[in-house]
Amino acid sequence: MRRIVFCGFRGTGKTEVGSLVAQQLGLPFVDTDQLVEEKTGRSIPSIFHEDGEERFRIHEREVIADLPGSDIVVGTGGGAIIDPVNVEHLRAGSVCVLLTADIATIERRLMQKPRPPLTGLPLIEEIAELVDRRRQFYYAAADFCFDTSGTSPEAAAQVVLSLLKNGATTPAQRNAAIVFFRAGRIPDMALATLEKTLTGQDRDPQARILGVAGYPAAHSRSPGLFNALFSRYRLNYHYTWFESPDLHRIMQVARETDAKGLSVTIPFKQEVMDELDEIDEHAARRIGAVNTVVFACGTSVGYNTDWLGVRKPLVPMKGATAVLLGAGGVASAAAFALTDLEMKVTILNRTPERAEELAGRLGCGWAEWDAFDRIRPDLVVNATPLGMLPDTRSPLREEQLVKEMMVFDLVYTPPVTPLIEMAKKKGCRTITGMEMFVQQAREQFYLFFGIDVPESVIQELVK
Ligand code: NAP
Repeated sequence: MRRIVFCGFRGTGKTEVGSLVAQQLGLPFVDTDQLVEEKTGRSIPSIFHEDGEERFRIHEREVIADLPGSDIVVGTGGGAIIDPVNVEHLRAGSVCVLLTADIATIERRLMQKPRPPLTGLPLIEEIAELVDRRRQFYYAAADFCFDTSGTSPEAAAQVVLSLLKNGATTPAQRNAAIVFFRAGRIPDMALATLEKTLTGQDRDPQARILGVAGYPAAHSRSPGLFNALFSRYRLNYHYTWFESPDLHRIMQVARETDAKGLSVTIPFKQEVMDELDEIDEHAARRIGAVNTVVFACGTSVGYNTDWLGVRKPLVPMKGATAVLLGAGGVASAAAFALTDLEMKVTILNRTPERAEELAGRLGCGWAEWDAFDRIRPDLVVNATPLGMLPDTRSPLREEQLVKEMMVFDLVYTPPVTPLIEMAKKKGCRTITGMEMFVQQAREQFYLFFGIDVPESVIQELVK
């Protein structure tokens, strides 16, 4: 039987509910805090007090890495899932259940069994701050969620057992979803897998789906990449295409199939913001676009990972003078990344008004397209679709490039675009759109599952 892992903040009932679930299933229950105490021969408060939290986390990581892979129910410490290595171990071949509770309930429960403080704050404030800080990690680690506030451990255990046995969707919801998926352009093999996952006779109720939301979405390389990652990390998920001109319907199907998340592509990156419960304030809100949606505990949260995909390969160019070509969705993420790296950015766009608007919003300069030659930037970023197959045009002429320039083309089909080819010929350093794709997908996988995939693994899989 698949290993069952309980995670969540302390005081949410992991040990009580986990033990009851284990009892019902006839499996042993282990608690990672208890394993740390057994391993060290010391109590958790004493490890925190004498050696500090960092030392405790090392012990915790060791016991998690040594857990049996099946036929066991595991309760984890409240902060265990912040460490991506722990998440990778805990998630492999497991089903992860996140227990939550409201702040007042957690406080009441914690007052009954004192635990070492993790901050210098009063208890209720500490709980509120830590729950908020860790929420993204809990959501990423969770396959199923249940709020234990106002519920007895016995009743909570029954709900969890039912989720494990039946999943979180009804047959009517799954049948309606299949009708939706059949209307999109999904390859036959992928549709067959989806039908088996959602409505097949021997359906696995613990299997979950995710997908790319777009119209069209068929060009996306995400399904191939994500499904390969699921095999590698032994995650019980299937990634597919949510292709429809109707974003509202896509979101409805995603919710009704209990989808874990969506990668969002053209033309929905802006529109999707109106469909979400929350939007990441740091980046997505300021960029004005969402390319990642995480569903957990009845909530949908939008993020943008495109900007991280642009930022990562440019870190060594901090402070450079940059020209950004284009003022659409991806250009907005690129402008955010370049300004985050303190670059002096000028946006050039076919429609100058859009360049002006984006520049004003993100604190960049803008100019008419033919101003390029006056600027002579250190870095050129192409965020237009020029050069994307079947288009073979370049946004710049060869004589506009000089060998000191770095040229980053965000277009990744083909991997070597006419602009990149031209830049190489001129002796410029180049970065391809594939690098952005790899980085943004890596960040997206981290938001969905809390696992930090090495860059080399993704690079190998997209070759
Ligand atoms: P978008 O929102 O439609 O924006 C396109 C931008 O390109 C607009 O500024 C548009 O100018 C300009 N443009 C379009 N056709 C042009 C032409 N013929 N000449 C000059 N400018 C032109 O598209 P997007 O979502 O930002 O995507 C842009 C490209 O980014 C895509 O084609 C894709 O190749 C690439 N991309 C790469 C990744 C990756 O991971 N590497 C991810 C997403 C997208 P106007 O304002 O005048 O219309």
